[in-house]
Amino acid sequence: MKAEIHPDYKKSIVTCVCGNTFETRSTIGNLKIEICSSCHPFFTGRQKLVDSAGRVERYKKKYAKKNPPEGGSAKQPATA
Ligand SMILES: [Zn+2]
Repeated sequence: MKAEIHPDYKKSIVTCVCGNTFETRSTIGNLKIEICSSCHPFFTGRQKLVDSAGRVERYKKKYAKKNPPEGGSAKQPATA
């Protein structure tokens, strides 16, 4: 390796919000992550909604208004 051109590739502890931690190496030190291989649905095989910022709730709220209740739509063709 050429001297003084490589970043410091140090040991780092990765901590997930699920409680899992593992050790790897990186140039930015310790990491805090929201999802890892022991809690991601792909690896666990369980269907789990990952919604840390409440985005699904917001989506549902936003589009619930655009779906009027039965028979209330003006776009429905009139039956003659
Ligand atoms: Zn995790």
